[in-house]
Amino acid sequence: MVAVKENLMEIQADIEQVARRAGRNKEDINIIAVTKYVTIERAKEALSAGIVHLGENRNEGFLAKFEEIRDSATWHFIGSLQSRKVKDMIHHIDYIHSLDRKSLAKEINKRAEKTVPCFVQVNVSGEESKHGLDEGEVESFIKDLAAFEHIQVAGLMTMAPHVDNPEETRPLFRKLRLLRDRIKGLGLDYAPCEYLSMGMSNDYEIAVEEGATHIRIGTKLVGSEL
Ligand SMILES: *Cc1c(COP(=O)(O)O)cnc(C)c1O
Repeated sequence: MVAVKENLMEIQADIEQVARRAGRNKEDINIIAVTKYVTIERAKEALSAGIVHLGENRNEGFLAKFEEIRDSATWHFIGSLQSRKVKDMIHHIDYIHSLDRKSLAKEINKRAEKTVPCFVQVNVSGEESKHGLDEGEVESFIKDLAAFEHIQVAGLMTMAPHVDNPEETRPLFRKLRLLRDRIKGLGLDYAPCEYLSMGMSNDYEIAVEEGATHIRIGTKLVGSEL
């Protein structure tokens, strides 16, 4: 397996080039290493290579890695989150990327002891199989979150469909950026909505061009050995 360090250097070089082309600052782009397909050892290798952010999409995988790694990483929960699992994890998660319903917001708010930065997940492609709110529902959903004092809307997140030509995802990423701009423009104190979590192994370059601040990379960075 290729060393994480080697993959990371390649991805960083790509990001630097794309950021320059797009007139963006490369420091504004956070790489989340998605470790759901790999061992705890491989996750630790990512941290040694200079990764700060780790992402997991399941309760069990998250807790197993968290137990070993704890505060040496910033933790992102990127998968669909069952309300009944919230209490086991909420004190260990730094960012939730999959806030997509009021019942989940309510449970997070009830269990949290401090502010939890969340990304509201949006289904920009409109595909039936994708999680997330429809574009048209997002603004009223976020306005309703005012009731939950522990929830902060840090940004918006989406998962683009897997396509052979990543260029096809561009309009979707752009749509999410425009939506982010609109929500940010509302000036809600609990919803600064500055961040865009979008882009994975096959489409992160397009996502960065379209404004991603958090890219979630598994296969291309740490591989998929499990
Ligand atoms: C698995 C996963 C990723 C990473 O996917 P890769 O294609 O392996 O980079 C990113 N985001 C979410 C929500 C995921 O579940």
